[in-house]
Amino acid sequence: KPLLSIRNLGKIYGKDTRALKGISLDFYPGEFIVVIGPSGAGKSTFIRCINRIVDPSEGAIIFDGQPLEKLTGRKLRKERSKIGMIFQHYNLIGRTNVIKNVLHGQLSNIPLYRSLFGLYPYEDKKEAVELLRKVGLQDQIYKRADELSGGQMQRVGICRAILQRPKLLLADEPIASLDPLSANIVMQQLHTISQEKRLTCIVNLHQVDYAKKFATRIIGIKQGEVVFDGAPSHLTDEL
Ligand code: ADP
Ligand code: ADP
Repeated sequence: KPLLSIRNLGKIYGKDTRALKGISLDFYPGEFIVVIGPSGAGKSTFIRCINRIVDPSEGAIIFDGQPLEKLTGRKLRKERSKIGMIFQHYNLIGRTNVIKNVLHGQLSNIPLYRSLFGLYPYEDKKEAVELLRKVGLQDQIYKRADELSGGQMQRVGICRAILQRPKLLLADEPIASLDPLSANIVMQQLHTISQEKRLTCIVNLHQVDYAKKFATRIIGIKQGEVVFDGAPSHLTDEL
């Protein structure tokens, strides 16, 4: 049974910018999906509609049994807390150290008073350290986030998203600001961790080579429409 079902999703910005047109897709647990397409194809809009940063103009988004497009307030926040986000520009708190960035996820479920006093649950601290070790940052735990390289920052971003214990991970151009070597490490770790936890992961990329290397499924978008949906081995050259 799919974790996420999208039906007839459409988005129009302003009067006539049709960024998405009639998208219908099902996503299953454990899939590592890479969405590719040229700039302006609608990739960001697609991801932003799923977590409702952008409100869709039409269609349905059924996530974990809930109609996300209809939810507001507390119910929306509850469903969103099951969706981990990874950003192109990492969105870390630069003046704060690495472990606190991981613990203090933007969408975390920790009550405000606890995080203010640094009273993070013991299991969270333990898991944060384990995750940081997994991505090779065990020696940077108390470094300020703004002292890290871009690749290291994104690995912190991965740990933060995973600590939230999401069912779905969304990553919008996570490697667009990285050099090829760091990009490869970030994609490798994102892939390994999400496969290990059987998460559904949807990643926007404009690089076809990384999509072919890591995706279990590739979705090609052009001018707001799905033009390819299948295994990397079936990807044809004209995409
Ligand atoms: P991609 O991520 O593939 O580059 P986007 O989803 O950013 O594509 O953009 C799809 C289309 O929607 C483009 O024509 C873009 O200019 C337009 N668009 C994106 N965001 C907005 C916005 N906030 N307001 C108006 N138009 C937008
Ligand atoms: P990216 O491709 O990395 O999303 P963009 O420069 O396309 O970067 O978009 C930066 C911001 O501007 C985004 O928030 C996007 O939604 C918004 N945006 C993109 N295109 C338009 C547009 N035509 N009109 C208004 N806002 C836009």
